Amino acid sequence: MKPIKNEKKLCLICMEEHEVQTVIIEDSEEFKGEEVSFDATYEYCAHADECLETEVIIKANNLAMKDAFRAKVGLLTAKEIIAIRDKFEVSQKDFSEILDAVIASFPFLMQQSFQSIKSI
Ligand SMILES: [Zn+2]
Repeated sequence: MKPIKNEKKLCLICMEEHEVQTVIIEDSEEFKGEEVSFDATYEYCAHADECLETEVIIKANNLAMKDAFRAKVGLLTAKEIIAIRDKFEVSQKDFSEILDAVIASFPFLMQQSFQSIKSI
């Protein structure tokens, strides 16, 4: 458990105002048949020695888990996709159109690569 933030606020675990820690805990979950390990964020109450996921944290943890899954199975993570878009300075819409064009051309490219393999 690694603390990343300390904030005095109403603790939703013990319902008292005190320093609530935001911590990172290595979590694992099964997603699409794969066991995925990722850094999950929680709010931690030292009084009750319990962790809590707020709605915002649930969304962030879900994204972290899916990114870990994508990294594990060799797909691009959300961060990598954004980095590629930034590198080529294309908008999400343009990038989506580029991807559509690539996918549409896939069978043709496959044929080409099979042709080149045959000629080796
Ligand atoms: Zn508390």
